[in-house]
Amino acid sequence: VARLEKVLFEPIRIDDFETATGASIGVAIYPDDDVDQERLVSNADLAMYRAKADIGRAVCFYESKMDEAARARHTLAQDLRRAVELDQLDLHYQVQTSVRTGQICGYEVLLRWHHPERGAVPPSEFIPIAEESGTILVIGEWVLRTACKEAASWEQPYKIAVNLSPVQFAHADLAKLVHTILLETGLAPSRLELEITESTIIADKTRTLHVLRQIRALGVTVAIDDFGTGYSSLDTLRSFPFDKIKLDRSFMSEVDHSIQAKAIVRAVLTLGKSLDIPVLAEGVETNHQLEILRVEGCDEAQGFFLGRPKPVGQIFQVETSADDDEASAFSGRL
Ligand code: C2E
Ligand code: CA
Ligand code: CA
Ligand code: CA
Repeated sequence: VARLEKVLFEPIRIDDFETATGASIGVAIYPDDDVDQERLVSNADLAMYRAKADIGRAVCFYESKMDEAARARHTLAQDLRRAVELDQLDLHYQVQTSVRTGQICGYEVLLRWHHPERGAVPPSEFIPIAEESGTILVIGEWVLRTACKEAASWEQPYKIAVNLSPVQFAHADLAKLVHTILLETGLAPSRLELEITESTIIADKTRTLHVLRQIRALGVTVAIDDFGTGYSSLDTLRSFPFDKIKLDRSFMSEVDHSIQAKAIVRAVLTLGKSLDIPVLAEGVETNHQLEILRVEGCDEAQGFFLGRPKPVGQIFQVETSADDDEASAFSGRL
């Protein structure tokens, strides 16, 4: 296997160019892995997808637990398809605050799924499945409509920030949908911000930029999410006038003890200032981190220290001491 992988990963020379290609091989063995020809091939297929998913691994042998994982995903995808109709989805809101004044700037909308048997399933688990199966189109529309409807009824005109999946850009007339939902719910366009990640732009740059311009023409703002973790961040900023940079939370978790992390935070803040784009730091979990952001001149912050994501009924309640305990208990654990 090692020899085979070495050959598969070897760069290929074409004239003066060296190009790296790859191949993925899945292996299922008769009769151990199945005696039925069709199932044997399907098992090899599962192993091949495993090999594809693992960077640096070209050959993968079938194991029965792969079957289980694939079947579990399939079941979850089916359950998810009915989650909207069965009213199992809910939105939580997490506050975004001005670092300088402590004032509320807005709320990020975060999707929650209460599975009838499994309880709360984290978005990191079900969003990829929803994207794979296309269900994200229905779910994404539900999120947008529900969030706009809820926010339109608030007494204070806070902004809401809604996450968009790359799939929503690829398969729907997104700008038209946003426009329709704004008209339908009566939410002022300036109160809606859409968060996209770099993977959205990488998927189809021309199309994405076109749709983003249409959305922005409606008066809706656009934020670049998880900034600093992608692989073409600077190019991304050059291609499109974002209204906000959301610095990925991985930098915050290290900012108090890593010189490198602090230097990157500082560099992104400088970049934001030069381009005149406000920067929001994600994942602020301690007062110390917030203090660093204040010293460095960061515009906005979001994180457990400032407020956890909460159901809409709880966001405007006065912060209780229990919340403070939560914040300090959390920092104590770090
Ligand atoms: P994200 O957009 O980066 O959202 C922020 C995530 O960080 C949320 O996780 C939030 O609960 C968590 N978080 C906030 N403050 C802190 C903190 O101080 N420390 C730590 N460790 N975490 C913090 P959540 O709600 O589990 O969502 C995970 C991801 O799922 C989101 O990452 C987003 O990519 C995706 N997601 C959530 N809702 C939606 C949605 O409606 N549509 C789409 N397409 N994706 C969504
Ligand atoms: Ca509900
Ligand atoms: Ca986000
Ligand atoms: Ca983020």
